[in-house]
Amino acid sequence: MAEADIALIGLAVMGQNLILNMNDHGFVVCAFNRTVSKVDDFLAKEAKGTKVVDAHSLKEMVSKLKKPWRIVLLVKAGQAIDDFIEKLVPLLSAGDIIIDGGNSEYRDTTRRCRDLKDKGILFVGSGVSGGEDGARNGPSLMPGGNKEAWPHIKTIFQGIAAKVSTGEPCCDWVGEEGAGHFVKMVHNGIEYGDMQLICEAYHLMKDVLGMEHDEMAKAFEEWNKTELDSFLIEITADILKFKDTDGKHLLPKIRDSAGQKGTGKWTAISALEYGVPVTLIGEAIFARCLSSLKDERIQASKKLKGPPKVQFGGDKKSFLEDIRKALYASKIISYTQGFMLLRQAATKFGWTLNYGGIALMWRGGCIIRSVFLGKIKDAFDQNSDLQNLLLDDFFKSAVENCQDSWRRAISTGVQLGIPMPCFTTALSFYDGYRHEMLPANLIQAHTYELLAKPGQFIHTNWTGHG
Ligand code: NAP
Repeated sequence: MAEADIALIGLAVMGQNLILNMNDHGFVVCAFNRTVSKVDDFLAKEAKGTKVVDAHSLKEMVSKLKKPWRIVLLVKAGQAIDDFIEKLVPLLSAGDIIIDGGNSEYRDTTRRCRDLKDKGILFVGSGVSGGEDGARNGPSLMPGGNKEAWPHIKTIFQGIAAKVSTGEPCCDWVGEEGAGHFVKMVHNGIEYGDMQLICEAYHLMKDVLGMEHDEMAKAFEEWNKTELDSFLIEITADILKFKDTDGKHLLPKIRDSAGQKGTGKWTAISALEYGVPVTLIGEAIFARCLSSLKDERIQASKKLKGPPKVQFGGDKKSFLEDIRKALYASKIISYTQGFMLLRQAATKFGWTLNYGGIALMWRGGCIIRSVFLGKIKDAFDQNSDLQNLLLDDFFKSAVENCQDSWRRAISTGVQLGIPMPCFTTALSFYDGYRHEMLPANLIQAHTYELLAKPGQFIHTNWTGHG
C-alpha cells in the first residue's frame, strides 16, 4: 500500500538525521540503503517508534510511495549518484522526482537534470547545509533543477528547513539546473572566508594587543551584539574560553595547520574560470595552504626576519574597535564578491537566481548564519537588479563608516609583520572597484583601445625598432 510521502536513500549520518527531521514534521519516509542491513539497524534503533517505513529493495521502496514519487539521495557524491539514478530510471515514470541532497559538483547536477528531463523525470540538486545537527534540527536547503518538481517538494523542504526569527524557512527555490549546488558551493567558499577573517582578527588581538584568551573571548561576545552577530563569532568566543582538563586554554595547544577540501576550493576555481575577482575566498584557501606548511614554517621562522618586536603604543580599546570594523568591512567585501560570482554564473548559464532568497537560505541553519545576511536580503528585496552589494545604500555607508578603522588596522598589522591576507585583499578590492581609472592601461599598451575611441584597436611600436 502506498503510504510514504517521500523516500530517502543513504542511511549515513546525514540521511538518518534528515529522515528523523521529516518524521518529526509529520511526513512518512521510506528508508533505503545500499547495504540493506543498515535499513533494519536504523528501524530497530534510531527510527524505533517513528512512522518511518523500511524498504529492502528499490522496487519495494517505490511500491510504498505516494505519487508523484519523491526520492532523496543522500549518498556519497560522484559515481554513487549516477549508479542509483541508473537503477531508479527503469522503475520511474514521467513526473516522478529524484532529489540529490549530497555535495555534488554543479556541472554533474546540470548534466543529470538534462538527461532526466529527456525521460520526463524531474531532477533536483539541493545544497544541504548545517552538517549533522542541521539535518536533524533544521538545515539550510538550497534546491535547484527542474522547477516543475518544486510544488511537489516545497511543503516538505520548507517544513524541515531552519526558520529565521520571523518564521520564514531557510529554503526557497534557487534556480535552474545546477544552480542549487552552485549556490551551496559558493556558501562553502564564503564559510572559508568568514573563518579566515576571524582568524586574522584573533591574530591582531593576540599579537598586536597582547590580549589574553578570556579577554579575547569577551571581545567576541561583545562583537556578537553588533552587526557581526553570527554563529561563527559566537562559537569563536566559546572556543577562546574553553579550558582543557589541565585547566589551561585548549586553543593554543591545537596544531596551526588547516586542511582544505572540496567545495570551498571549487568556488575559487569557478571564480578563475569565469573571471570574477573573488579574491577573499581565494586568499582564505591559500592561507590554509600556507598554514599546512608547518614544518617548513618552523624552519623559516628561525631564519627569516620580520620587523623588530615593538610594544603597541596606541589606545588598546580604540584599536580593538578598528579590528572589529576591519572584520566587518572585509566581510561585506567577501559577500559582495560571492554574489558577483553568482551573478556571473547566472549570466553564463542562463539561470534566473533568487538572490534575496539565497541570502535568506543562508540566514539560518548553516555555519555562516548571521544577522548580516538579513541585511543582504533587504538589499535585494529593495532592488532585485542590484548590480553589486557595495552599491546598496546600507552597505555603501557601512563600508564608508568602517573605512578609517579598516585602513588603520591593516597598516598597523603590516608595520608589525602580521599576515592578514583577507583583510588586505578586501581593502585592495574596495580600492580597485571604486577607481574609475586603474593602471591596466599599461598592461594593454601593446594592442590597445583609446578611451576616446572604444572598439578600435591600435598597435604602437614603442621602441621605434622595426
Ligand atoms: P557519506 O559518508 O558521504 O556517504 C555514505 C552513504 O553513501 C552510505 O549510505 C553509503 O552506502 C552510500 N554510498 C557510498 N558509496 C556508494 C556507492 N558507490 N553506491 C551506492 N551507495 C554508496 O554520508 P554523509 O556524511 O551522510 O553525507 C551524505 C551526502 O551529504 C554527501 O554527499 C556529503 O558530501 C553531503 N553532506 C554531508 C555533510 C556532513 O556534515 N556529513 C554536510 C553536508 C552535506 P553504504 O552504507 O552501503 O556504504
